[in-house]
Amino acid sequence: PRVRVYLYNKNAYSTQVEYKPIRSVLVANRGEIAIRVFRACTELGIKSVAIYSEQDKMHMHRQKADESYLVGKGLPPVEAYLNIPEIIRVCKENDVDAVHPGYGFLSERSDFAQAVIDAGLRFIGPSPKVVQQMGDKVAARIAAIEAGVPIVPGTDGPVTTKEEALEFCKKHGLPVIFKAAYGGGGRGMRVVRKMDEVEEMFMRASSEAKAAFGNGAMFIEKFIERPRHIEVQLLGDKAGNVVHLYERDCSVQRRHQKVVEIAPAPRLPQEVRDKMTEAAVRLAQHVGYENAGTVEFLCDESGNFYFIEVNARLQVEHTVTEEITGIDLVQSQIRVAEGMTLPELGYTQDKIKPRGYAIQCRVTTEDPANDFQPSTGRLEVFRSGEGMGIRLDSASAFAGAIISPYYDSLLVKIISHASDLQSSASKMNRALREFRIRGVKTNIPFLLNVLENQKFLHGVLDTYFIDEHPQLFK
Ligand code: ADP
Repeated sequence: PRVRVYLYNKNAYSTQVEYKPIRSVLVANRGEIAIRVFRACTELGIKSVAIYSEQDKMHMHRQKADESYLVGKGLPPVEAYLNIPEIIRVCKENDVDAVHPGYGFLSERSDFAQAVIDAGLRFIGPSPKVVQQMGDKVAARIAAIEAGVPIVPGTDGPVTTKEEALEFCKKHGLPVIFKAAYGGGGRGMRVVRKMDEVEEMFMRASSEAKAAFGNGAMFIEKFIERPRHIEVQLLGDKAGNVVHLYERDCSVQRRHQKVVEIAPAPRLPQEVRDKMTEAAVRLAQHVGYENAGTVEFLCDESGNFYFIEVNARLQVEHTVTEEITGIDLVQSQIRVAEGMTLPELGYTQDKIKPRGYAIQCRVTTEDPANDFQPSTGRLEVFRSGEGMGIRLDSASAFAGAIISPYYDSLLVKIISHASDLQSSASKMNRALREFRIRGVKTNIPFLLNVLENQKFLHGVLDTYFIDEHPQLFK
């Protein structure tokens, strides 16, 4: 191992960064994201190692790695990928030296990051301390305040009684949003607009949260009307350098879950973009953020923006950022974990320039004609849309694949890239129409309706978009 001293940080502290190449990466995940990481490994000449559950014995991600190992024998499908001791054992027995968590599963668990490090392996992500801090809503909000980043007014901690809820609403006014303190992924949220409904809605939301997440504690925040969801992609290294890779607009959401993502955010005034990206970098530097991460904001019509959370991991929609910047985020994650610095990788802020517009559609095996119920079974026919400006990231998208009910319903991520938003949308539209899928239902008809919507094509978006356009469901 080489030891070098860097003096890149503007705050002028010197940090010793040890460079130690990674030879073998285990991906503690499945599906398209596991394959995404294996591909980056192969391109870098690094061995890729998969784990798979019994239910995934025939799954594609297993075939795409150099080696694969069964975990969680006899366990339910999801638990296999959450079994920390077994994952560490597979690493130890097979000469693995780094672990990539992907998204979901263990990716936001600081105890997992710690267990990986304690086993003498490298964790491809931020330090356990930062994963912990960013995963704790209260701690993350405190860090944002310290870094001078605006936050949505909200309770200082989880609220458990209807009296406390009422007190907050009286003090800050309505509307508010109740969020399950232990929820996530857009689930367990409820907007309240009338004072005489606060107590009853709180009790209902809290008991739903208890049933779904095992704990009824809630956060309460001021509800921002007609917000855009805009998030900033960051990359940090071990020497304390942080750059942003511009932003994504993820306002096209169904039930607070992202459906279509765009980079960069259309019609975002340059001044707001500058302030937002600076705020995100400031927050990351404040907490000593290393590796890839995202700072999420809500932005109102006047251009005010508010921090909502940090995702201390790679996100599903990282692809659109890769398309506009030309930077491979997963390769960068691995390089940074090896001890390479951003300037060494050529990523100084002035060199990172966005080009054109990229759109990602999440094609899911859900039936839009039947309230997006999951559709499972055998994919009898599968032909994909391809061609210039189209990228496909998938795992089980081929004729003969079995779509199981055990995991999430993401079938393929389609990413289009072109010089402007309309051209990018028209490539996406054309590619979606080329798809031929029989055997399971998909949300493609719904996605096509979104792509043909005039507001979408002009980038006039906020999180009400889907709800306000019932014709999208036809
Ligand atoms: P999760 O952690 O479950 O993904 P987030 O806090 O990231 O939840 O919020 C998900 C989405 O919910 C946001 O993109 C936005 O559409 C909506 N949302 C969350 N908080 C607020 C708020 N205070 N005001 C308005 N909308 C909100």
